[in-house]
Amino acid sequence: MNCSYCKQPIIRNLTLAELLGLTPIPKFGLCSVCSNLFQRIDAFTSCTGCGRPNHKGLCQDCSFWQSAYPEYKFKNHALYEYDTNFKEWISSYKFSGDYQLRYTFAHTLKKALKPFKRFVICPLPLSFVRIEKRGFNQVEGILEAAEITSIQLLKRIELAPQSDKNRKARLLMPQPYTLATEKKQITNRSILLVDDVYTTGRTLFHAAEILLSASPKRLETLTLAR
Ligand SMILES: [Zn+2]
Ligand SMILES: [Zn+2]
Repeated sequence: MNCSYCKQPIIRNLTLAELLGLTPIPKFGLCSVCSNLFQRIDAFTSCTGCGRPNHKGLCQDCSFWQSAYPEYKFKNHALYEYDTNFKEWISSYKFSGDYQLRYTFAHTLKKALKPFKRFVICPLPLSFVRIEKRGFNQVEGILEAAEITSIQLLKRIELAPQSDKNRKARLLMPQPYTLATEKKQITNRSILLVDDVYTTGRTLFHAAEILLSASPKRLETLTLAR
């Protein structure tokens, strides 16, 4: 097996459980150097709303969202800290378009999604322009690499791309989503919305707003990083 980030071969001894066939040998993984690059977020010491690391209770951003969406009991599960190393990874994956990097977090994501077996997994959609430019939806890519079945419940209306906008401009963005399916696909079902990075929360709350209009039983979100 080769490391799914630096692509160097990984040499390690199999665990006893793997030798006995009790646990499958992972198809993808990170070498020890690369796995030390990324910091996992501890859910017990992070914001109860967005998963911001090392924050007790609800952070300031989440208090804002709570007042903007008083009816919505939001919960974001964040896996990694959005630090320099994570930014570097996402820049190679998303902006340089190294599609092989969709496997980097496949193992962790698969494990993290185990408690969501009964949920409909929905990746955040990209605009047609973005997909044309990049060639792939980065969230669909990582879900597929983790062998997770997902359904696209939303679609994006064509708006100007936002990565060059500052925080204030992003928060003022108009609603970019609309339903891509019939409401009955969402009504009374548990939905998990998945995105790569939680920054301002604006896009996730916009997406949530549309899904909530179809009355799901539960709606939670998961991001690779926060
Ligand atoms: Zn590596
Ligand atoms: Zn928060």
